Order: sequence, then C-alpha cells, then structure tokens
Amino acid sequence: MTGGEKMKKNEMEYMMGLKMRIYPNRRQEEIFWKNINASRFVYNKLVANSWTDSPIYSNKLDKLFPIPEEYWKYNKNGKLLKASTVRPTGLARITKDKYPWLSDKDIDSDMLSKAEMSYKSAWNLFHKVHKSGTPNFKRKSNPNQGYRTSNHYSSNTIKKDGGVPSLYNGSIKFLDNKHIRLPKVGRIKVKLSKRLPNNQLVRIATVSIKHLPTGEWFVSFLLKSDEPFKEQLPKTNSQVGYDLNTENFLTDSYGNTIDNPRFYRSIKGRLAKEQRKLSRRARRAKSEGRKLWKSKNYQKQRKLVAKLHAKVRNQRKDFLHNLSTTLIKNHDLVVGENLKSKNMLKNHALAMSISDVGWRTFIGMLEYKAPMYGRIFIEIDPAYTTQQCSECKFRMGTNNTRKLTLKDREWTCPNCDTHHIRDWNASKNILAKGLIELSKPLTEDSPIYK
Ligand SMILES: [Zn+2]
Repeated sequence: MTGGEKMKKNEMEYMMGLKMRIYPNRRQEEIFWKNINASRFVYNKLVANSWTDSPIYSNKLDKLFPIPEEYWKYNKNGKLLKASTVRPTGLARITKDKYPWLSDKDIDSDMLSKAEMSYKSAWNLFHKVHKSGTPNFKRKSNPNQGYRTSNHYSSNTIKKDGGVPSLYNGSIKFLDNKHIRLPKVGRIKVKLSKRLPNNQLVRIATVSIKHLPTGEWFVSFLLKSDEPFKEQLPKTNSQVGYDLNTENFLTDSYGNTIDNPRFYRSIKGRLAKEQRKLSRRARRAKSEGRKLWKSKNYQKQRKLVAKLHAKVRNQRKDFLHNLSTTLIKNHDLVVGENLKSKNMLKNHALAMSISDVGWRTFIGMLEYKAPMYGRIFIEIDPAYTTQQCSECKFRMGTNNTRKLTLKDREWTCPNCDTHHIRDWNASKNILAKGLIELSKPLTEDSPIYK
C-alpha cells in the first residue's frame, strides 16, 4: 500500500445532518431576525452588483445602474475583466463602513461570509445547470427565512479534550442534551429529536437557523466525522464470495446468480436511433451554416439523448445500489476478485461489457458500504479461482488435463468427480481465498487495507 492511499483513507469524511427545534426567548429572536435580515441584505446586494458589474455587457440594467469605475477590474494587460470574474469578490464592497449597522454587536460575522458563499454556490449551480437561472433576490415576503453560520474550533478550548474537536468544544456547541450555544445568541433551549451520534470524531461544521411560517424556529447542524455515522448491523454469521462474469452479472458462493440488468439492452436500440438523428441534425445545421446552439431542432434532440442517457445511468445505479446493499447487509464478509488482475480485462470485448454493466462502480459501492454497516469487504487475487476444484483443490491444466475455457459453463473434476457450475465453483474459491487472507496476521499488505 502506498502512502497516498493511506492518506486518502484518513481524509475520508462522513457527513450527517441533524435538525432540531429551538426555543429562543424574545431577545434571542431579535438577534436571529437581525442576522436573517443582514444575511438577505448581503445576498441581495451581491445579486444587484452582479447585474450592474457588467460594463462589458451593456444591457438595460448597466445603463440604469452603472457600476462605478473604481470597482472595475483589469488584468495585467489592462484588459477589463469579465463580469463573472468580478462578481464573487463582491463581499468586500458591502463593507461595514458603508453599512455601519452590519457591525452591530448582534451581527455574526460568519453569517456574512456564509451569505457570500450561498451567493457563489448559486452562481456555480447556474454554471452547471443553466436551468437553475442566475442568482435571484431573496424576498422578505418569503414565509421561510433563515441564515447560515459556521463553527470554529480554537486550539485553546479543545486542548482540555485532548485537542480533539467534538460536539462540545467549538464556538457552536452542545452544552447538554437540552441546550446548545450559538454565536451572538448564547445558550438556547433545544429539543433533540434523536440521540446525538456518540462516535468520538464528530464535529460541527455549519449551522443554519430557520424560521417557519408557523412561527417555529429550527436549527440544522451539518456534522462531519472520520468515522461512519450509520449504526453497525448485528452479525449475520454469513460469509459470501462472488464471481463477476459476462454471462450474468455475478454468481455468489451460495449458487445464486444475478442476471445482467436488462434495461440497457432494451433502451440501447432507441438510444442509437436518437443518437443518429442527433448527428444528422448537427450535419444539417453545419451545411446550412447555422450555429448548433442556435439550431432549435438540434438542441431539442440533444436534450432527448441526454435524457435517455440519464435514464440508463439512473437505472444502472439503482440496480448496483440495491445489489451492493443487499450483499453487505446480509453477510459479515464479502469477498470479490481484484478486477485489475482479472485476465479477462485484456480481452477488448469483455472489457467493453465490464464497463457496460458497471462492475467498477459496484466494487466502489461495496468498498464504502462495508465500513458503514460494520462489515468487511476484501478483494483477492483471482489467480486459479476458475481452474481449481473447490472440493479437492485439483487444478485444471495440470496432470495432462485441459484448461477450462469461457465455453465450459459446467465441468466435472477429473480428480474427485465433483460436478461444477463454473462460476459457482469460482465464487466458492474466492470466498476460501478471502478467508485464508483474513486468517493471516494483518499487515499493511493485507487485502482488508486495500
Ligand atoms: Zn475435485
């Protein structure tokens, strides 16, 4: 194992949301509203600036609200920067000297930067999904109001807890099961709807405060941890090996066969047809000298093809999720083959179908789900798992016997006469190999760490 992989494992973060009702007193409500209003003000200011920060795109708004030249930004060559690169730096311009009430003692400064972050992520969302539209004004009349703020750990305050950040030693913290402490607001009563996670490494990242039209107040925590939040499942005393193959999706060591999902096959023909239609429209637009983004027919078809792709993707994902969760939940140990070493990848046609059915995604799911549920997933070297008899360990291809090929779906061991279904036999060998690996003393090279 390399250091890099180790680092990655250590840096893995699990996240969990935790929402609860809070009961502010009059004074605390007043502080909440000041921050809600300031958060909306900053956000809306940034939105307004983004509309006027477009000296190079002269639209109506530019003329109505021209951006003062002092805020224009230039690059090294003296060229005016595009509006989109100017926009995100906006918070600096909504400073406290301009709006002195933003430095009120009740105003939470982390709330200000969070408001700017929401604005930025609204832009990011826009760049990713144009449908979402550019950031828009938040209305005071919206029945749901709120603001976000972030938690900090100072090395001084966490020192007495061994330097480990927890739910109980940040700038936002739990005082006991009935009270939390929030910036500017102080101690506030809460009603926990579920037990606090009791794993050691939970920390508070951000917090959002919400006011509902019913008049109720809620706080939502975003918690982070290096350990999984999910509860560990009870032991099943069952262990399983599985063999990935091309005739079906997998065969497990109990002899169960999971067929390849059919959705892809059924939609493939249609996808190919629509894809051809798309290229035809692209060619036509080109020959008529039209730009693709201007060609309505092309764009309509592009959307349709994208939708079909998404459909296949989602169905495949559902299938892989269901299967991986079932395996992990029903077995204490799941053993698979290391695909990298699996010979069949060298065969192009097989490699194609592997990417089709999503084996890699499947293995990734097993990898992250196992620790979530307190299970073990390991991969073993697939050498001889197909050629060896799981009963007597006789290896085909030795003692003048012939090697099994992909065509041999069933075979009889020449040594012990056991009749085998090829993939079932392989998955039994895979499980056996996994058990041997697990019984070895653990080293950094143990498959459990890979
Ligand atoms: Zn045998």
